[in-house]
Formats: sequence, structure tokens, C-alpha cells
Amino acid sequence: MVNKVYLNGEYLPLSKAKVSVLDRGFLFGDGVYEVIPVYNGQLFRFEDHIIRLENSLTNIRLGLSYNLEKWREILQPLLASDRDQYIYLQITRGIAAKRDHAFPISPVPTVFAMCSDIQHFAAREKGVKAVTMDDSRWDLCHVKATTLLANILLRQQAVEQGCAEAILVKNGYVTEGAASNIFAVIDGVLMTPEKSGEILPGITRDVIIELAQTHHIKISENIIALEALKSASEIWITSSTREIIPVVELDGKPVSEGRPGPVWKAMNDLFQQYKQSVS
Ligand code: PMP
Repeated sequence: MVNKVYLNGEYLPLSKAKVSVLDRGFLFGDGVYEVIPVYNGQLFRFEDHIIRLENSLTNIRLGLSYNLEKWREILQPLLASDRDQYIYLQITRGIAAKRDHAFPISPVPTVFAMCSDIQHFAAREKGVKAVTMDDSRWDLCHVKATTLLANILLRQQAVEQGCAEAILVKNGYVTEGAASNIFAVIDGVLMTPEKSGEILPGITRDVIIELAQTHHIKISENIIALEALKSASEIWITSSTREIIPVVELDGKPVSEGRPGPVWKAMNDLFQQYKQSVS
């Protein structure tokens, strides 16, 4: 449940928070966002999320010079300490007097944040189905932009086929999920596509890579061909709110035995311990 939210310097009940129809976020999807987990009242990997937000802002050429402490000050009053939550933080290029694709001369960004409870993703322990689809998105997938129409349409198609995620494929190799990063265990090596303009640099992805390196799990950031994915012994999708989800069926065929695999089990345990240790 969302109680109060932050909007442009004020804390308000959700029902009282209003944005103009001339806001460029509404008219053009001209904005960026972050989703930051909160465990025991602590913002998880906060600095990493803010660095990614700053990169997104720079990429869309939107100036907002808040530092880490300013963001913490803004978000802190929204947090509860007795349950798992996540912050949704969105910044748009604000209101322009008329609808014009080109930027307004001196934009005043709209800054909005709300905090919601994380619902435990019930299917995590038994795994989910996924379907591969053509990655029809643009060249700025490393920007966490609110302009998500392609991702929405792809996820919806997956859901309509009884799947939890669309795994996206470009020129014969895997990029990421419609709202997640991808990992696969191929010939005993944990693999994930390297960072580029074709994927969002996921914070969960970074944590998994660090944990693999610390705990001597063989990891490689490299191209994953669709054919290699189809023969993987494990496939996972990862994101801040769902964490690490095993894919047990891909395009209607079981992944290995059709059950979450041993590398997922080991990594999920390490991830849960890590969460506890930093919150
Ligand atoms: N890729 C896309 C397209 C996403 O939308 C997300 C977040 N939902 C991710 C990857 C995962 O990023 P993170 O681990 O930071 O949530």
C-alpha cells in the first residue's frame, strides 16, 4: 500500500499528487526512472541506483544536480522499516507551454517518488515459463527511460502465452528480458550478455556477477547465441523486485529437467544472505 508520495518538494497522500497534462512525461514519455529495493528500511545498493539514474539523465540531456545525500533526504521519509519495499522514482522533463518535440528552453524537471510493498514473487521457487521474441527496441536500452511501449507490448504477448517473461533476441543472440536481465548456465559456465546499448545494466545483474566472482562460480559476460540458450542447463531472469527467477520452460520445451537447477539454488542462497548482510 502506498501512503504518502513525494512530488516536486512536497510529501502528499497518493490521491492528492497531480501532474499537469502538459508534462512531457505524459505527452512524450520524456523521462527516466529507477526502482530501488528497500530491505529493513535500508535502500539496497543505493549508490549504484543513483549512478545509473545520473547516467540515464545525462543520456537524455536532462540536468538535475542532486547528489546522493539529497536523494536520500528525499526518499527517507517514504520508507517503512518493518517490511520489504521498493522506491519508484521518476524524473521527467517537466511542463512545456506547448507540445513540441524539441526541448523547452529552461525545463523544470518533475520529480516524483513513491514507496510500495514488494510482493514475494510466489513462482520463484518453482520457476517460470518464458518465450523468445524479436527484440524490436531502440539503441538506448541502457537508459532506464519511462518510454516503455516496446517492452510493454512484448511482456503482454508473453503473458498472453502463459509465460512470465519475453526473452529478447537480436540478430540471433540474446539481449535481455522485457523487464529483466538474462543469465544462462552453458557448459558449466554462468553466462550473461555484456553491458551495451542493447541491455539495461541491471543492479541485480551486478550483484550476481560479484557473488559469482567471490564464491568461485565460473562466470562470463559474453554473447549468448539463441541456439546456445536453447541448450542451456539453466536459464534465469533477474530484476530488483523479482530477484533471481529460474526459467524452467522456454518456448514450450523444458529447460533441463524442467526444475530450478543447482546453480540457481546456490546463487539464490548467496543472494538472500547478501541482502541480509547489507540491510
Ligand atoms: N532490463 C530491463 C529492460 C528492466 O526493465 C529491468 C528492471 N525491471 C532489468 C533489466 C533489471 O534491472 P535491475 O536489476 O536493476 O532491476
